[in-house]
Amino acid sequence: MPTTIRLDPSRPIGNFWIDMGLVVLLEQFGPGTYDANDILQRLRSRIAQKTGNIGQYYDEAAGQPREYEKINWVYPTNLFIKVSGQPGKKVKINDKEYPTQPPVFDFKLDLKKKPSLCDMCGDEAPVTDAKMWMFPFLVDLQRFANFYPGVKRGMRLCARCALAGLAGYLGWLWKAQGKDVLHFFIFHTDLPELRRLYRVVIRPLTVEGDRGGNVRTALAGKYIHETTLGLLLELFGQVRASDRLSDEGRQALAELLGAVENPSPAPLMLYAVTGIPGQAFNMQALREFTKLQSLYRLYERWLEALRLINSANPHQQLVSILSQFSTRQGKKKNYEESIWRDRIAWAILEFGDPFPKIEQFLFEVRAREEKKYPLRAGTLEVFNQYLKEVLAMDEGLQRVLAGFGHSLGTAAQEHNEMGLLYALRNAKNPEDFYRVLNDVQFRLNLTVPSALLNIEKGERIAGVPWVRVKTLLSIYAMNSFLRKGAPAEASDVNSTSMEG
Ligand SMILES: [Zn+2]
Repeated sequence: MPTTIRLDPSRPIGNFWIDMGLVVLLEQFGPGTYDANDILQRLRSRIAQKTGNIGQYYDEAAGQPREYEKINWVYPTNLFIKVSGQPGKKVKINDKEYPTQPPVFDFKLDLKKKPSLCDMCGDEAPVTDAKMWMFPFLVDLQRFANFYPGVKRGMRLCARCALAGLAGYLGWLWKAQGKDVLHFFIFHTDLPELRRLYRVVIRPLTVEGDRGGNVRTALAGKYIHETTLGLLLELFGQVRASDRLSDEGRQALAELLGAVENPSPAPLMLYAVTGIPGQAFNMQALREFTKLQSLYRLYERWLEALRLINSANPHQQLVSILSQFSTRQGKKKNYEESIWRDRIAWAILEFGDPFPKIEQFLFEVRAREEKKYPLRAGTLEVFNQYLKEVLAMDEGLQRVLAGFGHSLGTAAQEHNEMGLLYALRNAKNPEDFYRVLNDVQFRLNLTVPSALLNIEKGERIAGVPWVRVKTLLSIYAMNSFLRKGAPAEASDVNSTSMEG
């Protein structure tokens, strides 16, 4: 009797990979009961495809070699599925060895006869020992035990969950950088919303046949958070206007991201995984992002802030602002290091504090480069908005810091006193900080605003932890210092006011 599986849109499993696979199956086959082996073969034919290369086998019936078109698992699925084609028995003709058939790419469910509980859905059914080809998260269960407690012995899956695990490869979004890194992404929400998302958003945005990835991202690098932010910016950019999404697609995205009056109540989550491709995938990190609606709101505020300074294309300018925190390294400057961008993206994705990394980038990268450039036009507007919206910083204090930072950076450039800015940046406690400010008054003949002079209980200045005050002042000052001394060709790009 053939094994059958039931595809039921009202029964999510709750695991992001398996649910995405279920959605792929539901969209391809529709709800109903199906022969498991039939579905397996149809999935296989989508995941294993012709490579464009020709091989030879020996046709024993005809008594001569014949050509066939080679087939392999499509990249990057081939990093996970390690089942090779079966060439049949081999024969030797004129000292050359031939297979006797084109390799058959087959995998079987290998279900055990006696039913037991499926580790994924809890159903009692014939189960199979899950292998990597069904489910990439089995690569390293030790490391991901938090996600799958109690399955260190390996995972037993029913036929439906195993097939959904395989179908997950048809619903993921991925981005690769050659042999260095592979990121992949899976959205998750309730099953009806996930189906809608897949049908009208994910599928239309997916591109095929590109070894760099199956989705466009506004920015990408070797790290997980910067690339995740790049994917989200790309999606956010499609909500108001899109050349690839239908009106229905934009509407679905707007509802899921909370960009309309009646947002979808189903929370939208994004799972991002990064690893090294190699022979097999070596997983390095798995992250879950849950604040997508708040992120979208922040994105819209950013665009407004950029419109206020007459940005011609606020989305593009925002992308370029968030992209800038990297530098080219190596003898031929052929290698991009973007660790600061990744950490800043991480802070943004989690609504944390990106300013220490911006400070580090300015002082350790920009200020030490041969040609020293300030931050891109609009950067401070964008991050001032972040200070206000996310870190609840008082606008008055922000303006005091920006104004004094500007005077400080400009005067330091005029007096050739870059060292003072480093002393400020390196201040380790409030006493250090005030000692540097004292030096500033003395050497640059500047008056420190009185708002900064009162240290309060808990080492706060005007209600803000002293170290954030110091960090912001360092950023404003160094940026003005760099802008004042920037090479001439930079003045066009950076001429707009960035003091906010
Ligand atoms: Zn199951």
